[in-house]
Amino acid sequence: MVRSKGHAPPAYTADEALARLKVGNARFLSGKSHFPRRQQQILAELAKGQQPYATILGCSDSRVPPELVFDAGFGDLFIVRVAGNVLGPSIIGTLQYAGTHLRTPLFVVMGHEGCGAVQAAIACKFHGAQQASRIEALLEDILPALDGLDESLPPEALVSAAVVANVRRTMRTLQESPEGKARMAEGVMKLVGAIYELDTGRVRFLE
Ligand SMILES: [Zn+2]
Repeated sequence: MVRSKGHAPPAYTADEALARLKVGNARFLSGKSHFPRRQQQILAELAKGQQPYATILGCSDSRVPPELVFDAGFGDLFIVRVAGNVLGPSIIGTLQYAGTHLRTPLFVVMGHEGCGAVQAAIACKFHGAQQASRIEALLEDILPALDGLDESLPPEALVSAAVVANVRRTMRTLQESPEGKARMAEGVMKLVGAIYELDTGRVRFLE
């Protein structure tokens, strides 16, 4: 990874970064994406260093590619993708790098409808389903988010509620970490949750 030069103030505020994501998703939805092909001049400029305006923790699911969803170009987004958008030591380390060195003003935890990892966690919790050992270890990071969910919900509604709960739990964990608290206290960093809708391509930001 390339370190940004010194601690220059971010080019965007957190609110401006969030607005960029919203406008980018709107462009994607309207079929008018700006970044469909290679832009040599931008690549050459970025080779000198990166200053992404947002960090995104999303799911590995092939149907949820953040750059496409937000119509973002090279150098715009610092992205971690892991099944179920869960936190683990190396994920937290990557996010800390984004906060400490890249100083991205905006952090987004983005879940998505129909998440297979969340569905597997539901099957594990409510139906005792079993998975391979490494997958079960991953699900351990999702299971606590399912506490308090209404098991009697229709399956699709239960998955939707669990996806939101999983995003919110990840956000809480980040907010309550010493680093997260410190960055929030500075007032320059914002953390938001989002849900991607598979069938429409729309990103719904959580209140
Ligand atoms: Zn997923």
